Amino acid sequence: MRYDTSSPQPAIDRRQELITPYGGRLVQSFRAGPEGQALLRELECKPRLDLSEREFLDLEMLGSGAYSPLSGFMDRVTYISVRDNKNLPSGLSWGWPVTLSVTDKRASEMKAGDEVGLYFCDLPVGVIEVSDIFQWEPMLEAFAVFDSENLEAPAIAERLDQEKTQLLGGNITLIVDKAESGWCEDHLWPGVTRSFFEQQNWFRISSITGVSAWHRADEHILRSVLDFSDALILQAAPGRRESVNGLSPALIQEARQAILRNYFPRTRVLDNRLPRHIDCESSRTILQQAIISQNYGCDRLFVDAHADNKSTAINRHSLLASLEIATEAELRIKIELIDSMFYCDACGTIANERSCPHESTHRQSIDNKGLASAAQFGKTLPPQLVRPEISRVLFRREQHQVDTARRKRSNDIFPHTPEISRANREMVSGHKSAVLWMTGLSGSGKSTIAHRLERELLMSGHRMFVLDGDTLRTGLCADLGFSREARQENLRRAAEIAKIMRDAGMLVIASFISPFRSERETLVDIVGDGFYEVYIEASLETCEHRDPKGLYKRARAGVIPEFTGISAPYEVPGNPAIRICTDKTSVDDSVHQLMLAMADLGLLRVSRKDLPLRTQQMITLNRNLHVQ
Ligand code: ADP
Repeated sequence: MRYDTSSPQPAIDRRQELITPYGGRLVQSFRAGPEGQALLRELECKPRLDLSEREFLDLEMLGSGAYSPLSGFMDRVTYISVRDNKNLPSGLSWGWPVTLSVTDKRASEMKAGDEVGLYFCDLPVGVIEVSDIFQWEPMLEAFAVFDSENLEAPAIAERLDQEKTQLLGGNITLIVDKAESGWCEDHLWPGVTRSFFEQQNWFRISSITGVSAWHRADEHILRSVLDFSDALILQAAPGRRESVNGLSPALIQEARQAILRNYFPRTRVLDNRLPRHIDCESSRTILQQAIISQNYGCDRLFVDAHADNKSTAINRHSLLASLEIATEAELRIKIELIDSMFYCDACGTIANERSCPHESTHRQSIDNKGLASAAQFGKTLPPQLVRPEISRVLFRREQHQVDTARRKRSNDIFPHTPEISRANREMVSGHKSAVLWMTGLSGSGKSTIAHRLERELLMSGHRMFVLDGDTLRTGLCADLGFSREARQENLRRAAEIAKIMRDAGMLVIASFISPFRSERETLVDIVGDGFYEVYIEASLETCEHRDPKGLYKRARAGVIPEFTGISAPYEVPGNPAIRICTDKTSVDDSVHQLMLAMADLGLLRVSRKDLPLRTQQMITLNRNLHVQ
């Protein structure tokens, strides 16, 4: 079973419901809110056990239902069955041992029936009802699970270092201390993804693993898969692999987010960083990823069979072995392999062996390792392999890291973790929160469009606010002049405010000339996720002709120095998320275009198809409301 990127499969899938969770139902076990608080109080008088990061991730997977139908850490019978036969005792296939380890000493202090509080980083995160305590045999596990005769696999080595040689089995309850129980920055929960897909009437959901999505081959894969899916979950964490290649996980994450933000509809590509700690022998890994993906509601798992170096490439026999298991068990998700990609200059596009008829001399390979090391040594990355804006992210990294470190060091500040997440606020708002950063020449129409849009959207129940350059300069930024540094500081403050308002669950429209690309890039760094560059385009002639504030006249007369478009440059955005050209359109039409684009980005309460009629109605209504 191979995934052919050259010819999308016909979509004759008439299924009107999501694939069922593995084993038939989602087994979740978590307490939040007052129930969570009550459980936390009970924990105070129970014995305590500290978890490793892997164990904590497993706990979250168990509690959230990602490991359905497991309800807790494996007991002896389950563990041995999985280790030796890749089966749960019920007969269902299972790839990865989900175990909780303790030292001999701690094990001797516990017995079956005990309830033990689970802690991670000194915080209470769950409770286990111990049903079994048994000896761990690392050698047998290394051999069976990691296909290795040595004990170097991190999952094994970590435990040995801490002299943890016993395993505890038993049902768990995860305690969700914060208001989070679903969407958090990078861990999605299957109950939430499932209900989100159902709400959208989306039933063909794909999962992709092993793809980092920061260069064009990965982007090509995502797009091809999305072409015939309703949505996809990117199960791709910046893991060890990327950092070995020289680029930090944070940097890869930033590059990936930039690709997703600028080139994919936000609600259709979900970035999930949770399950990547599963790193065992390949057919087990695939099997486990497939189980998890099915639990998240995915009916297809795409696996990048071409890891960065050939020795770790997944061999097709292992995959076939796992597929055999899959057909006999309740694993209904389909598993498909992604072939390695290259850029062919004769095709003029990304292709693979089967889709490209040309000689290998035309082909430029794209692999994480090569590109990462080129970026690391400051080499120019070919634009056909890596988008220029991503290259800039990679090159900018050192300066940015130094700046951030300096800023952090200079303040002994400990921000309090909020109890309400942005996702919760978005739920209350009824729409996504975002910053739409309008850039364009003076007089291009930024303020006019921004304020009209604000009225339209407020009237249809959106929470939004316009941040205007001139308004800020009368208060918060009144101390700033117009030197390059002062303008930069003005933008920095505006971006920080926009971010706070975005975090408050609002749609923020920022209207600033912001003429330099490098400055606009730092805005993305400040605001992060949910930043959209909106280019309000109008020719210099149009703007000068309009000259609503008389500024062009004064600039031409030399009264205003360094005026953008006249005596200072304006750098046109290379790849804005939205572009509105106002040269020949009316204000109403420009606002309408922007609303359509926002609907397509999933930022509004309504979709595009509901918009024209409503917009018409609102515009009429607004006209009636105009105070002449
Ligand atoms: P900016 O905020 O970009 O400096 P303004 O919004 O203050 O620009 O001024 C733009 C001027 O152009 C206004 O007088 C507005 O009425 C006029 N205009 C003409 N067509 C459009 C359009 N399609 N969109 C926005 N403004 C337009």
